[in-house]
Amino acid sequence: MAYQSTSDTPGHGFVNPGFATHDVGAAMGAPPPADSYGPSAPPMFDSVPGYEGTVAGGGGGFLPPPMPSFPESPPQPEPSQPHWTIPSITEDTARGAFALYASSKCCYSSSPAKNGVISNMEAFNTYRYRLETFTESRSTEWSQKPYNGEPIDAFSQQPPGPWNIAAQAPTFFQDSKQVIKVPYTSSLKNCHDCVGMGRMPCKNCAGAGNKVCWVCNGSGYRHGDDRCSHCSGRGRENCTQCQGQGSKECSTCQGRRQLLVYINLTVKWTNNTSDYVVEQSSGLLLENLNKVTGKELLKDARYLVFPVMGFPDLNVVSAAERLIREHQTTHSQSSRILQQRQTIELIPITKVTYRWKGKSHLYFVYGNEFKVNADNYPATCCCALM
Ligand SMILES: [Zn+2]
Ligand SMILES: [Zn+2]
Ligand SMILES: [Zn+2]
Repeated sequence: MAYQSTSDTPGHGFVNPGFATHDVGAAMGAPPPADSYGPSAPPMFDSVPGYEGTVAGGGGGFLPPPMPSFPESPPQPEPSQPHWTIPSITEDTARGAFALYASSKCCYSSSPAKNGVISNMEAFNTYRYRLETFTESRSTEWSQKPYNGEPIDAFSQQPPGPWNIAAQAPTFFQDSKQVIKVPYTSSLKNCHDCVGMGRMPCKNCAGAGNKVCWVCNGSGYRHGDDRCSHCSGRGRENCTQCQGQGSKECSTCQGRRQLLVYINLTVKWTNNTSDYVVEQSSGLLLENLNKVTGKELLKDARYLVFPVMGFPDLNVVSAAERLIREHQTTHSQSSRILQQRQTIELIPITKVTYRWKGKSHLYFVYGNEFKVNADNYPATCCCALM
């Protein structure tokens, strides 16, 4: 035991005589053990082989994974040449999406959407490359909880290394987390808050169990010779917070007097995503495309992906190469890569020019969802109806 009783003064404010005769007696016997840092100091944690850097509380205990095992020579990706077809939308689709857009805005007049005449439709379809790297990271921290009869197994065996502890099988590309109690690290400590008493002196009555009567201010009398009815003339009243006991159950150990101290291992699965969208000159801002999907041209998932080859757009090829290099460097340092996935989408963008009331206007229809962007809609207030 790391605990040594250095104090022989049981003077922790437990002055209520009723308290000592409670159920506390049996396990106490000797004066309450106190660590040398005083009752509020954190418990001292043992050093566990393989877990030396572990600290109490969040933040610490980060564990780099063992060396990653990259494949010796990358297998050649299949030189499959998919047929890159460019989807285009019809005038009817454009008009329908535009009408839906106008009606979704409560104040917009539907007239431009209904009566506008399309004069030109131009495709600015673009590619989006997406790389996902699904990683696992592990960290440890010392934890404690009220002792409830769990097995005490610290030092009975060498604990398994943090990366050798089996965790649940994760669902690829989905963030999740699991907390595991590391075997052979559990030990028992006296509660540091109540120094193993299970109870704490009541702050409200300073441990006395009663207080000066607030009605008669301790005199026992009111208005001359009238006996105080509130305290029946005692001059003191029972403390309501501790029901006159002078002490309350210790919240740290929940009255159990002892704490189970052990190492928790947190396993975290994270999907790290990077997007690259090829610049296009339609005038539609790039961020609009975050909300839509495109036609999937490539989907490739494996332990470690290889840069795409033979794709017609060289911007995509070089972005893939760069992102794959970045991800594999960054994520293999702080975590373990479990799986990667790369996708290429072709996002349809159509710029529609139309005439309404003798003037030319434009809107965009984009994504598989036929989303519309019309920042300069000519009739944004239906009150101005013609
Ligand atoms: Zn009174
Ligand atoms: Zn009290
Ligand atoms: Zn306690």
